[in-house]
Amino acid sequence: MLNLILFGPPGSGKGTQASKLVEKYNLLHISTGDLFRYELGNNTPLGILAKEYMSKGQLVPDEVTVAMLENKLNMHPDVNGYILDGFPRTIPQAIALDKLLENKSQHISALIALDVDDEEIVDRILLRGKTSGRPDDNDENIVRNRIQVYNNETAPVFDHYDKKNKSIKVPGLGPIDQIFQRLCTAIDSL
Ligand code: AMP
Repeated sequence: MLNLILFGPPGSGKGTQASKLVEKYNLLHISTGDLFRYELGNNTPLGILAKEYMSKGQLVPDEVTVAMLENKLNMHPDVNGYILDGFPRTIPQAIALDKLLENKSQHISALIALDVDDEEIVDRILLRGKTSGRPDDNDENIVRNRIQVYNNETAPVFDHYDKKNKSIKVPGLGPIDQIFQRLCTAIDSL
């Protein structure tokens, strides 16, 4: 199985690249942000809870997020592999994921990080906000909070997998297809 974590700050292009990778490598794309937005759109209790955090650019609590992810993995037992986008976002989530996969005799093949600096990210997200319909993309304070949360809580996940020699950094600037080629080169050399 090819189980990838597509990593990087909000607005680094994870969603765009994940859609392309899913097609090429026939993987299941799991975006926890998309899963929360789906719940929110359907006004489910999980969606209503998640909205409280998402609207402020904060992380939804680990227990809730891990349970949702576990559910999603269990719904698709026969896939070639997963591409995780926006998960894990904290060290406890990474530890929970490793355990979850271990119980299925699976493991993470690699974490691939899209490297983009903070100011570029703010510009990109605010531009995306004009068309994405996402309230958390429209307010610069919320965007900056999301970046701060990323730097404080999520960036250490890179080191967690780096200690297992599984983390790879790829420059996230340039045309979409060029970044895609960089990702494919990294994946094909696993
Ligand atoms: P994203 O679409 O990945 O930018 O996620 C949008 C929002 O959903 C985040 O700002 C968080 O509030 C929430 N969220 C998504 N994934 C996670 C996660 N793994 N852990 C906690 N909160 C998450």
